Amino acid sequence: MLVRFWGTRGSIAKPGPDTFRFGGNTSCVEVRSDAGTLLVIDCGTGAHGLGQALMRERPDGMEGSLLISHTHWDHIQGFPFFAPFFAPGHTWDVYGPSGLSGSLRSVLSGQMQHAYFPVTLEQFAATIRYHDLHEGTVRIGDVTITTHLLNHPALTLAYRLQADGATVVYCCDHEPHDPALASGLGPLSGQELHHAAFIEGADLVIHDAQYTALEFPAKLGWGHSSVEYAVRLCEEAGVGRLVLTHHDPLRNDATIDLILAGVRADLAERGTPLEVLAASEGLVLRTSPRDPEAAADTPRVEAGAGALRSEPGGPPALVWVTDGDLEAALGTALRLEGLPFHVAGSEADLTERLERDGASLLLLEQARPVRDGPGLVRRLREGGATALDDIPVVMLTAVEEQAHRDDPLVSEWLVLPVSESFLRARIQAWSLRTPCRWERARPPRDEDQRLRRLAELGLLDTEREERFADHPLVLGEPRIRFYAGAPLILEDGTCLGTLCLIDTRPRQLSGAELSLLHDLRDLILLELSPQPCPVALHHP
Ligand SMILES: [Zn+2]
Ligand SMILES: [Zn+2]
Repeated sequence: MLVRFWGTRGSIAKPGPDTFRFGGNTSCVEVRSDAGTLLVIDCGTGAHGLGQALMRERPDGMEGSLLISHTHWDHIQGFPFFAPFFAPGHTWDVYGPSGLSGSLRSVLSGQMQHAYFPVTLEQFAATIRYHDLHEGTVRIGDVTITTHLLNHPALTLAYRLQADGATVVYCCDHEPHDPALASGLGPLSGQELHHAAFIEGADLVIHDAQYTALEFPAKLGWGHSSVEYAVRLCEEAGVGRLVLTHHDPLRNDATIDLILAGVRADLAERGTPLEVLAASEGLVLRTSPRDPEAAADTPRVEAGAGALRSEPGGPPALVWVTDGDLEAALGTALRLEGLPFHVAGSEADLTERLERDGASLLLLEQARPVRDGPGLVRRLREGGATALDDIPVVMLTAVEEQAHRDDPLVSEWLVLPVSESFLRARIQAWSLRTPCRWERARPPRDEDQRLRRLAELGLLDTEREERFADHPLVLGEPRIRFYAGAPLILEDGTCLGTLCLIDTRPRQLSGAELSLLHDLRDLILLELSPQPCPVALHHP
């Protein structure tokens, strides 16, 4: 594969004499397989130069794919300025995670609203298709792409590209799950092992390295890596070449030179074969596999914790915390994400619920000496709750020192306070670890009678009305995330079906809204009645 850097800066474009060599444009990388598959990763301001170059190369049209890590400005600001989008005959597939505020397409179109930009997304002349991604694998041309969720305040994906027997990984923006690792020292554990497994054995890793270990403590929670952490991780994961990128806007060329020299001296002293470079605009790298057999493997991603099972009627998330405000904040975040949950009143209640219904996610607290969350998980495990192997355990604590990040029973530590959006991003990340599994409703016991009554009412073989298990509108656009139904039950007890409301956002219906739905259902039943009731005709 050929890799060319068009934008290397993080946060905001910073062109000028101090950033001339490493570049001032924000994130954008071009990747081409030997067979000619064209991929663009991230669409920061660097995409402007790339777009111009592509138009010179193929003015009449080309096919390409854009992979967006996340929709923070420094990764999408070049999107409305990417010339191929305005050219008829060009075809582009745009991939990325959908954020908290809707699908990838709707978020991208948000920055092109009239107040911000004169041209709307609908006015692009190229054929553009949008694809929302979760964790998984997608194949584009001859390139196999595996995605992996990163630790960032927005839902963010890393990409692992495999083609031509080589592997390239792109990881921007990401903060170590364990802040202690920002120093580049200490053992990897928990989610860090999961992250290391994702980049394992890659020939080339392009990694966020916005800060140094010294700067990191003041930037905790901003969602970025230190140089030392990126190096440590790549050493541990047996990576061939590491390219440090997402340079801080305050970082000038001379400082990047110094940082790089320091890293290389350290590596030489330790005798580590890892090669480290700093991304610079215009840098072109060609990958060739060091070990063709190893490179052909898909990443050995270890299940740090299992999937959140969010099928309707599936087990709820279980919450058990001491602090009332925290409990309310968790409730709000879970509600906004549309996930059912139960707040346990006691350890016994939690245990009983877990044994009886299972759980999709455990949200517990470490607040010693009052509450020992990890101790509780250990007791549950020892009590034979083997289902815990598949349930993500998120542990909240207000005291950094109480976070035991190497505890294998804890999937993730969140140090309080956390913002609502960050909490939602993490809950969403766990809920997207694997796709939701939907189950078809079982046929009712009186199915024959139901079909007979439908035939009598002349409703059978009318327009096709799907139920929504595995429905493309759930799995694809517009990604239905809310469903409310009122069953249509005739006087003789036959259930004809359901009057449904759907939406693309999770919603909670109020009591008044629910009774309105029931009223509408009653009106329909009156309409369907073989002898229409005169009252129905005059109903408001
Ligand atoms: Zn960024
Ligand atoms: Zn970001």
